[in-house]
This record gives sequence, C-alpha cells and structure tokens, in this order.
Amino acid sequence: MKKLFSVRRRKPAGFRHLFPAVLTIILLMLSLSACGISGGGAGNGSSDHEGDADNYSTTVYAMDIPIDLTAWGPHAEEAVKAAAEEIQRIDSLLSVTNPDSQIGQLNARTNDAVSGETLEVIKDSIRLSDLTGGSFNITIYPIVRAWGFTTGGEYRIPSDDEISGLLSHIGMDKFSLSDTGDDAAAVTFSDAETMLDTGAITKGYASDKIYSIFDKYGVETALCSLGGNIITKGIKTDGSQWKVGITDPFNPDDYCFAVSVDDKFLVTSGGYERYFKGSDGTRYIHIMDPETGRPVDNDLESVTIISDHGAEADALSTALFVKGRDDAIAFWKNCKDLDFEMVLIDDDKTIWATEGIADSCTAVGSYPLKTINK
Ligand code: AMP
Ligand code: MG
Repeated sequence: MKKLFSVRRRKPAGFRHLFPAVLTIILLMLSLSACGISGGGAGNGSSDHEGDADNYSTTVYAMDIPIDLTAWGPHAEEAVKAAAEEIQRIDSLLSVTNPDSQIGQLNARTNDAVSGETLEVIKDSIRLSDLTGGSFNITIYPIVRAWGFTTGGEYRIPSDDEISGLLSHIGMDKFSLSDTGDDAAAVTFSDAETMLDTGAITKGYASDKIYSIFDKYGVETALCSLGGNIITKGIKTDGSQWKVGITDPFNPDDYCFAVSVDDKFLVTSGGYERYFKGSDGTRYIHIMDPETGRPVDNDLESVTIISDHGAEADALSTALFVKGRDDAIAFWKNCKDLDFEMVLIDDDKTIWATEGIADSCTAVGSYPLKTINK
C-alpha cells in the first residue's frame, strides 16, 4: 500500500506511456489494500492526489482507512473530488466511534432522529439480516466493543457471564423505526443497552454512492479501493477487464488469486484484517458470531463477494464469513433473493469459487481452485 503510493507519487514524466504495462501490477497491488492491508500514516481527513490527462486519483482517509479513488475521462477530477467529499459525509453520519454521528447519537440516546440516508442503511441492514438468518446483525456493537475492537487496541477476552449478559441486548427486534416524514425517521430502542454498528455495510453503501456520483459526472472508467471493498467501474481504457488480486489470508502481504471483472463491486471479509491473540496464541478476530457473542472461529479464512450492489456485497461478505464454508455454500445455492458470486478461502488453503465467476479466477500460488456448482 505505502509502496503503491510512493511509486505513484514519484511517477516519472514518461509514466503515461508505460501505463498499460504497469496497470496490472498496480491493480494487483491496489487489491491488497482492497482486501484489508491498509497503509496508514495519513491523518484524519488528509488526502493526496495526482492526475494526468487521462485520470485523476485521490487518497482520502476516512472510515479508519486510506481510501483510493481513481477515475478516467474528462470529468475525472470533479467526480473524484465529489466522491471524496461524499465519503467523508457518509462517515460523519454513520461512524460508530464518532459520538456526533447519527449512529453515535442513537447509541448514546442523545438523539433518536435519523436522516434519509442513515434510514436507508438501517433498512437495508434489516433486509440483509432477515435474508441471512441473522448472521448479519447491526445490533452486535455491545459485543464488538466488549472485545475491544472499537477502542483502538485495548483488546480483552470477556468472561462467559459478561458475554451472556451482553447477548441479551443483541437482536434486530430490539429497535423499531417510525416514519417522521421527509424521508426521516425516529429510532426507538426497547432495550436500554442495545446499540447499532453499521460498520459491516457502510463502505459498501459508500461504494454505491461513489458509483452513482461517477455516473452523474459521466465517468465510465474508475477504480476505487475502500479497505476490503473494491469498485471496478466499466472496463479499462484499453478495453480489457480489470484484474483484481485477492489477499492471501495466510500471507496477507501477498495475494493468492486474481479475478477478472468489469463493472462490479468486490468485497472481501477476512479474519486476517483485524484480530488480536490471547496469551495461549488463540486468534480473536473482529467479525462476531451473533449467536455466541464470540469472534468467528470456523473453517473460513476469507469470503469475497462479487456483485452489482456494493452495500449488499459488503453485508454478505460479513454474513457468509460468519456462516462457515458449508453453510455459505448452501446459502449461495439456495438463495433466490440475491444475485451474487463468491469466492471462499478455507482453512485447508482451498479456494472455492461459484460457477459464475470460477472461469474468471486464476490461482496465483499453489492453492487449489475448486468450483461450486448450483
Ligand atoms: P466487515 O469488515 O465488512 O466484514 O465488517 C466487520 C465489522 O462489522 C466489524 O469490525 C464490526 O464492527 C462489525 N461486525 C462484526 N460482526 C458482525 C456481524 N455478525 N454482523 C454485522 N456486523 C458485524
Ligand atoms: Mg462487510
């Protein structure tokens, strides 16, 4: 990630002529960030940018990560700048760690009102929680917080009693929405301790918004990386597909397969993204099982969803990671309400790709690639 930025900052004058040759390498490097390896170092709200006649890029720091936005075409600069502002705006609405955000105010019970956009995210979260049988659950926050994942590194292992106490506050039935007109709503909690965390869908929601902004500015070609979320808009300017590398969860500085796509959202959730280790070496990751109140510990190392919908892909990557390999595969086979492809990496180092994307995947290292058929 850092390497990518420095390479691009020091772009020599003749770089444009080299661009097609290095594009694949850049994409593969970009994808490392997209799959959870973040560089850091940038301060809140900081950005750097560069442009040439063909494209314009910015890196903006929001949602606790550096976000890379690149667009091509005559309106690339305006579009990228508008997208960067949109990201900051969405972050200020939804950030669970910002007490002034709408989610922060709901959780502190200082304001029950939410605007249309926050309402849209909450409603989509309810829909996706229903569809995934509760594996995706935005009321998980008291549990996430108890394990220390939002306090910036003060990780801890809660006792069994603490976990069962906190589980009593988790449930999508513990809040309700009432329309207050003008697209706004009030959120009422039936449990004083229930709190919301839209962190598993926010970047996907922002991705959908960025895509729409690019459309508004007539940008046909763009590539963005928001942590584990990648947007590939259109096809590359040379007419070929984007080739995106997906992080090797066993060696997160590298990638273990590449997938060729155009005009898709790709979202990866993996345990390697954020975790801590107990004194006995047990790894505790940031994705929680809403049934147990504990970090997911199953046979999956990462889940990548490929879809036409950013928010949906983001929620699904988290939810199917919770389910584990066989249940994630069964979910994909039986799902009639959602249209997506997925690639799972399991703890046997096998890559499982659904039939609609398998032919577009290439294993880069030695892990076997298997196809999931309907
Ligand atoms: P992602 O990286 O998109 O998989 O989202 C993970 C983040 O979502 C975590 O850091 C938590 O803030 C939150 N989260 C953890 N477990 C769940 C869950 N089962 N459902 C919804 N959100 C979750
Ligand atoms: Mg997610």
